[in-house]
Parts: sequence; structure tokens; C-alpha cells
Amino acid sequence: MARAARTSIVIFGGTGDLAQRKLIPALCNLRRKGRLGDNVNIVSFARADYDDRAYRALMLNGARELGGLALTTEEWERFAASLHFVHGDLADPAAFEELGRLLAELEGSQGANRLFYFSIAPRLHGVAAQGLRNAGLCGEENGHWRRVIIEKPFGQDEESARNLNRTLQGAFQEDRIFRIDHYLGKETVQNILVLRFANAIFEPIWNRNYVDNVQITVAESVDVENRAGYYDSSGVVRDMIQNHLMQLMCLAGMEPPESLTAHSLRDRKSDMLRAVRRWSPSEFSRNAVRAQYEGYRDHPGVAPGSRAPTYAALRLYVDNWRWHGVPFYLRSGKAMADKVSEVVVQFKSPPLSMFRRLGGSGIAPNVLSICVQPGEGVHLQFDTKAVDAGFITQVVDMEFHYRKLSEEDALPEAYERLIEDGLEGDASLFLRADQIEEAWNIVDPLLRYWDAHADVEIETYPRRSWGPLSADRLLRRSGSVWQSPCSAHRQR
Ligand code: NAP
Repeated sequence: MARAARTSIVIFGGTGDLAQRKLIPALCNLRRKGRLGDNVNIVSFARADYDDRAYRALMLNGARELGGLALTTEEWERFAASLHFVHGDLADPAAFEELGRLLAELEGSQGANRLFYFSIAPRLHGVAAQGLRNAGLCGEENGHWRRVIIEKPFGQDEESARNLNRTLQGAFQEDRIFRIDHYLGKETVQNILVLRFANAIFEPIWNRNYVDNVQITVAESVDVENRAGYYDSSGVVRDMIQNHLMQLMCLAGMEPPESLTAHSLRDRKSDMLRAVRRWSPSEFSRNAVRAQYEGYRDHPGVAPGSRAPTYAALRLYVDNWRWHGVPFYLRSGKAMADKVSEVVVQFKSPPLSMFRRLGGSGIAPNVLSICVQPGEGVHLQFDTKAVDAGFITQVVDMEFHYRKLSEEDALPEAYERLIEDGLEGDASLFLRADQIEEAWNIVDPLLRYWDAHADVEIETYPRRSWGPLSADRLLRRSGSVWQSPCSAHRQR
């Protein structure tokens, strides 16, 4: 839908990697699809000194090279005409005055809505919010809204997240603050809700009576590449588990919302996070493992003897009626055997096994796997009778893949959906303050436990493996193994 109201989108950090790789391509695609009206101006802000012309050239190159954007010169020029640049430091009030002058010029006497996008390092989020507030650029006037999208990571722990929430809420009302987790913009992540709540066959068995365990994997095959400096002070729990994996866990485990409104969806997710059993630091020692891939410490930017985990696996329990006693296993790592994001629901085995299985014994448990990426789709594994082999069974896979639904190969980029939702004011796919604080509250004791045991040598795992042996032991203790039907399917 093309937006009728005049709107300014201000990107703080408009020369950065994310802007070039994702934001500008997403905005360009929205314009191309007719979903970003011609009366939307984009103003980028950073310290580097560009004029509009040089900035547009930088973005064209970046969007093509980094963002893989393919477009005609005519399409680019139409888009680029609405692209502007202000240079200055976020700590400098004069830079905000300059931004205010440009916005006033572009918006005219009628004014316009404003969507601020903080694509800057987390330490600058509060600085940007205060700068906007001091310059009077985020106060609503003449019925024009002001909203802000904040990039992840949101804080370094619960306390810093609470402080940042307070600073942001000093400049914007809570319902104008859109904390991004780009995983929620992915079609397949949203499909978890559709699968669970648009079909009547899953919900009756989606509970402790039928589910043995839930496994959530976000594995990357790449190593830290050129992000070692950032990564080393963060590690996999802050980078992936506190945000993406917790959100996937919420979608897989939350109660049905009454509607798809932001309020309702986010309430149910918060309920789920609140129900997660809090491990004490010492309990985490039995319910979490961490490791580094071999060679991690050789990257320039990694501190000598660094203990930053590039892999972690956690066992969590959700203490409510639906899930009591069912382990949720979360794992994420870099330099892994495959790139895969997947939610696996492993059901309980039948109580009595009458059959022999090809190449094994007993009956394999049914497994429902939601492939978030790549190979976006769903797999259901079940036992069937092997052909012409008496009552010997074998596991087969019923599968659905998104690429069969769409003529176009590519699913829309998460950032397109999220920016569009920000413009529409639909916060259902964004995080509310309390969710972020709850998620930190779950992992903070683990981070503290690891900090307190900084002298313990960290386990390593070979590159292109599925992680350390201790992660296998974590599941084996309760008779389970890690599963990745999505990855196995693609390797076939
Ligand atoms: P980046 O490449 O380092 O870009 C940072 C941007 O901030 C640049 O435009 C930089 O331009 C600007 N900047 C830095 N200090 C400034 C200051 N004092 N005043 C004004 N502008 C300043 O970082 P990025 O990779 O784009 O990441 C941006 C945010 O997105 C981070 O929060 C990151 O965690 C998040 N994120 C990024 C990705 C990704 O794929 N890149 C993915 C997920 C989340 P100047 O140096 O010219 O000022």
C-alpha cells in the first residue's frame, strides 16, 4: 500500500554496513513495489562528510555490492531523488540543529511524520535519543507521529537494557518505540504462528502430554569474519540467544493470542518468558555449555586468551501447565557444519513398540521441524512400513517448501516487512520493553557464572562441526540427540 501522508525517514548510521546491506535495499524495494510513497524522504546522518550526490553514489554501490540489489538506472534515480545526507556527530547539538533545518525544508510548512532508525552502535542509542529530544525533533505536532526503530543488540545485560529503556522512554512514548529483532520479520518465523494457530491438528498435541522436547538451532557456517572486535566483547549469548533464539522459543511455546494485535501477541510472549525457570548460576553449570571454534583467538581484534563463546547450548524449562517438564534446548554457534535456523518439536514415542525399524530398533519419535532458513518450509517425520519387508518400519519425511508457493525465488527481506510495519505503526513484530528485560533476566545469571569462572579453559570445537561434545552430552543425559531435519534434507 502506498503511503499518502508525507513522511521523513531519518537513518542514524546511514553510511554503515547495515544501511548499505539491508536498509537502503529494503527501502528501494518498497518504493519499487509501490509501497513507499513518493512523498517519503530519507535523510541519512553520520560523521563522514558527503554531499547528497556523493552519498547517493556510495549507497548505489553499497546496495548493489553488499545488498545484492538489482535495479535499473531509472529505478535508482527515482529512488535516489528522495535520499539526503546530513553529516555530524551524535554528541554535537549543532548537528541536530542542522538535521532539524533539513527536515523543516523537506517537510514544508505542513510538517510530516517522522520515523527515526537507529542503525548505530548500541552505546549511541541513548545519545541519539537525547540529541533528538534536546533538539525538539521527536515531539509530536499537528497530528504527525514520531516513531523510532532501534537496532539490536538492546543493552548488554538487564540493567543496561532497563537504563536504555528509560532513556528512550524519556524521548518517545513506549508505543512509539520499535525494538527490532529482524528474525521476526522473516516469513517463516511468522509462519510458526500460522502453523500453530490456523490449523486445528497441532494445538491439541502441542503440550507436555505429547511433546518430548523442543530444539531451537540457529547455526551459522561463517566465522566471525571482520566482526571479531564487536563479537569478542559480546559472544553468542548476547549476539544470538538473548534475542533471536528467545523469540523463536516464544513463538514455539506461547499460548494462543486472542488476536494478532501488538498488545495481544506481545502479552503472550511476555507470559512465556516470565514462565521460563530461572537457573541460578550454579544450576546453569549443569544446563548450559559454551565453546569456541578452533582458531577463534587467531582473528585480529580478539583478546589474547579470550573466553568469548562462539557456541552455546542451553536447556531451559517453562514452568506452566502446557510445558512443565519439557526441556527447551537452544543452541547457536559460528563456524558450524551448516547454516540453518530451525525449530524442531520432537514428540514422545508410542508407549509400546511392536515393530522393528530399518537400521535401528523401536520406533523413531515423530519430529516436526520448521525450517526458518534456508530451505524455508516444514518437515514432518513419521514411521511407515518399509516396502516388501514385513512389519519393518522406516522413517519418511513429509515436506513443504515455500519456494513451491511463489514464482519468485526470493522471499521478501525481513527488513522490508519491518520498515513497512514501522511506517504503519504496527508493533506486533517488534519487542516491548518488558520482553527484552525478561530475556536478559533469563541469561544474566549464565553470563555472570561464566564471568566468575573466567579462569576455566574454554572447550573448543572443530570448524564445520556441530559444536562441542559437551553439547551432545547435554541432551544425551535425558535420552535425546540434536536433530536438524532441514539441514539433513538439504545435504541429501
Ligand atoms: P557500522 O558499519 O559500524 O556503522 C555505524 C554507523 O554509525 C556508520 O554510519 C557511522 O558513520 C555512524 N556513526 C558512528 N559513530 C557516530 C557518531 N558519533 N555520530 C554519528 N554517526 C556515527 O555498523 P553496522 O554494522 O551498520 O551496525 C549498525 C547497528 O545495526 C548496530 O547496532 C548493529 O549491532 C546492528 N546490526 C547490524 C547488522 C549488520 O548486518 N551490519 C545486523 C544486525 C544488527 P561515521 O563513522 O561516518 O560516523
